[in-house]
Amino acid sequence: MRGGPVKALVFTAPGTMELLDVPEPDPAPGEVVVEVRAAGICGSELHGARRPGFRQPPLIMGHEFAGIGADGEAVVVNPILSCGRCAECRRGLRHVCREREIIGVHRAGGFAERVAVPASALRPLPPGLSWEAAALIEPAANAVHAWNQAGRALGAGGDLGAGGDLGGGGDSGTEGAVGARVAVIGCGAIGLLCAATALSGGAARVEVTDLSPARLAAAQRLGAQVAGPGLSGEYDVVIDAVGSAVTRAASVAHQRPGGVAVWLGLAGEEAGFDGNALIRSEKRVLGSFAYRDEEFAQAMARIGDWDLTWAAGYPLAAAAEVFTGLMNGGLDPLKALLRP
Ligand SMILES: [Zn+2]
Ligand SMILES: [Zn+2]
Repeated sequence: MRGGPVKALVFTAPGTMELLDVPEPDPAPGEVVVEVRAAGICGSELHGARRPGFRQPPLIMGHEFAGIGADGEAVVVNPILSCGRCAECRRGLRHVCREREIIGVHRAGGFAERVAVPASALRPLPPGLSWEAAALIEPAANAVHAWNQAGRALGAGGDLGAGGDLGGGGDSGTEGAVGARVAVIGCGAIGLLCAATALSGGAARVEVTDLSPARLAAAQRLGAQVAGPGLSGEYDVVIDAVGSAVTRAASVAHQRPGGVAVWLGLAGEEAGFDGNALIRSEKRVLGSFAYRDEEFAQAMARIGDWDLTWAAGYPLAAAAEVFTGLMNGGLDPLKALLRP
């Protein structure tokens, strides 16, 4: 199998994805070749293919993937590469490293039969986890980080009236907003995983909004309540998994005084919220990007417990069609996974 050309989905020009034969990956010292078994298509990639910026063609995208390592072991890739030397890395915050690079963004990623990655990026998979679930560990790690961001904010600044077990850490390994009333705006894959993380992390209640009945149904299967097409009440934590001016404004408007909004959606650049509310009601907005290493491990430990029937697998041969269909609308699986 190895040695020949490799089939890969290549971002060749703005709005254009092509299935091409590319040379066999040639691992540099310290790198290994992974045979990809499942790779998730991320909303950020659909956006990035339309408007190159963070991602520049030609590029093999794919930062959410799992496969077989050089010794035949099942692995998932943590795509965050960091320098290990800067102040952020030394503080354990290598996800905001000044020289951060991401596999599938700054170098070839998982939309291929095989890809070379630094050996340091590999994490062994627990036995029995499906390839589909394994490919969802990376997005789930983003959700764990968002939940922990909320917990750190409320634990440090506030009260949930939950008997002092806030922002816990401790034995459970959870440091999320235990006891919080949570709203999640947007039920794409990240929003669903945020809802699942909050529910399994001890939220008192999780309500979700989305315009799509299918997405709301997937959230209900995970145990969330439907708030409606929009939010009405007030919440301790509002997670914005969309990132438009409208949803960002809602995340502030529906946050109780002294609560927290966590933003992970990147749909637009506009903030659109009432800045004075941050002063008069001590509302808070936190950005959440990627995850710390231990959060990646937490996501791996939890992903097997959740209903993931909203993710659909496709052969690599259909990759260009699937990606283009998602990018331009017309194809609507909630989450597409390529299965080389
Ligand atoms: Zn992603
Ligand atoms: Zn660094």
